[in-house]
Amino acid sequence: MPFASLGLTPELVRAVADEGYTEPTPIQQEAIPLALGGRDLIGSAQTGTGKTAAFMLPILQRLAPGARHTLRALILVPTRELAEQVLQSARAYGRHLQLSAAAIYGGVGMEPQTRALARGVDIVVATPGRLLDHMERGHVDYSKLEILVLDEADRMLDMGFAPDVRRILGALPDQRQTMLFSATISRDVDALARTALNGHASVEIGRRARPAEGIEHVIVAVDKLRKRDVLARILQAKPAGQTLVFTRTKYGADKLVTFLKREGIPAHALHGDKAQSQRQRTLDAFRSGVADVLVATDIAARGIDVDGIRMVVNYDVPADPEVYVHRVGRTARAGARGLALTLISPDEWLLMADVEKLIGQTFPREVIPGFEPSVAPLQPRPLHLEVARPARSVRARVGGRRRR
Ligand code: AMP
Repeated sequence: MPFASLGLTPELVRAVADEGYTEPTPIQQEAIPLALGGRDLIGSAQTGTGKTAAFMLPILQRLAPGARHTLRALILVPTRELAEQVLQSARAYGRHLQLSAAAIYGGVGMEPQTRALARGVDIVVATPGRLLDHMERGHVDYSKLEILVLDEADRMLDMGFAPDVRRILGALPDQRQTMLFSATISRDVDALARTALNGHASVEIGRRARPAEGIEHVIVAVDKLRKRDVLARILQAKPAGQTLVFTRTKYGADKLVTFLKREGIPAHALHGDKAQSQRQRTLDAFRSGVADVLVATDIAARGIDVDGIRMVVNYDVPADPEVYVHRVGRTARAGARGLALTLISPDEWLLMADVEKLIGQTFPREVIPGFEPSVAPLQPRPLHLEVARPARSVRARVGGRRRR
């Protein structure tokens, strides 16, 4: 899908081509048409998804017809680094337009920022604390403000900016477009969105990779060849309620069921090779509680809609972290509690780190005595998104290229 088909003007299409972008990212495909139409939106998007262009391109397009050098778009961000980055994006994507932009953040002198505000800029990218300083000194005029963006809202709240953000919100005109972006949509972010956005006009886009709150996630480290023994051990402890075990392949599901039965655990396999009537019988037995343990592939499990599944076991770590979210979503339905247990062999640690990054949590790691893995597991990558940000030197290079 080309950028032009999203409804962007030639100046902006040219600018993204200058950047070397050939196609909009998924969040851009969803957000840009809505934002151009003036909708309020909540975007569930992490850094690296192209979220900055998703809000910046529509802002530039909406403001471009009348570059007035009065403050019309405000973007609140948690850190000065992000403020600089977003400012660079505004300049890069707006290079064929006449709009002006400035960044306002703490840790540097007030004076140049005061002068920029006094001269008048169309777009201000700001951290909340310093912006409040300027507001208190009467440097900021919001009377012409049309668009507000809350970027990385979850981090802004984590950093304690909630009171500042609320004071800023109180000073803005009610008639405006508001866009909120956040890697995770926690309860606090939801609450902020309810205050800041026009509920009736708002839409939510992007994936919301959040398994239910009632799920406890546990990782058990074990050698690949001993996974089946560990699983048998866990199931023999007769966990309350039903258990759904996921394997990546049909063959793996069958082999595992054979093994479990040999260990005295009545398990059933559910996958695409079974006849429809047989699948139905298996599902009915599981749903009615006659069968406690179901071993399924991802595709076969699509139709499973059973309440009361107490435990989901990932016998293999899924290669796509979103599959993890789908799998564990089978437990803890309707506010119930559930356990998501993942058996990881040492070669799967990095896949698990991707899952944790997507969900934004580190899960407890356990070993079953007697089944400790023989290889020290690779340390998962750190969770925090900051590390994914380009280093200063990289950004400087990118900035340099853009300025030319
Ligand atoms: P962001 O998620 O906004 O931090 O963007 C992450 C990176 O993706 C930035 O370096 C952008 O320049 C780049 N980017 C944004 N949109 C696209 C696109 N459509 N195609 C290729 N790269 C992009």
